[in-house]
Amino acid sequence: MKICVYCSSSSVVAEQYKSAARELGKLLGQNKHELIYGAGNIGLMGELASATKAEGGRVVGVIPRRLAEYGLAYALADETIVTETMAERKQEMEARADAFIGLPGGIGTLEEVMQVMTLKQLRYMAKPLVLLNTAGFYDLLLAHLQRLVDESFMNGEFLQLYQVAHDAEEALRMIQEYRASELPLKW
Ligand code: AMP
Repeated sequence: MKICVYCSSSSVVAEQYKSAARELGKLLGQNKHELIYGAGNIGLMGELASATKAEGGRVVGVIPRRLAEYGLAYALADETIVTETMAERKQEMEARADAFIGLPGGIGTLEEVMQVMTLKQLRYMAKPLVLLNTAGFYDLLLAHLQRLVDESFMNGEFLQLYQVAHDAEEALRMIQEYRASELPLKW
């Protein structure tokens, strides 16, 4: 499968997040999945891509020209797609992938994960999305999403737009077993 992973560009996060990124990369490579990601050679992105490559997985990076010119792209990627804008980059990643995983990350990662949820909510897409909740990283976000439901900002059925995994193995299992459910129309 072609699996798009969103994750942190920071290299100074705790070791537990780096090892979770490496573990996911290792399993992607071992299971012959293709990694589609933000092309970075830094942070969890770099850990993830090199672990995927080390196990023989194919790595596809998608990066806007400006970031590529900063020298931030992973040189060993099997394919690097350079886009003009951030919006085109997200579109390219969404179109190519069969499934999405959100590892821990900052606002870039949050934005990417939220866009996938939004597209699914509006029925532009029905592909699986799994949040990899290493060490409870996403607990506060999950509580906020529940608050959206409790205060009627979101239909409770939309909590099915994503699944939550505790480790890479569970995340990949959820993707393999995923069956798109019929969700209500938002409006
Ligand atoms: P953040 O979570 O804020 O570190 O942003 C990481 C996410 O945004 C990744 O999934 C990338 O797709 C994108 N991104 C942000 N910064 C970079 C960078 N320096 N190089 C490549 N992609 C980046």
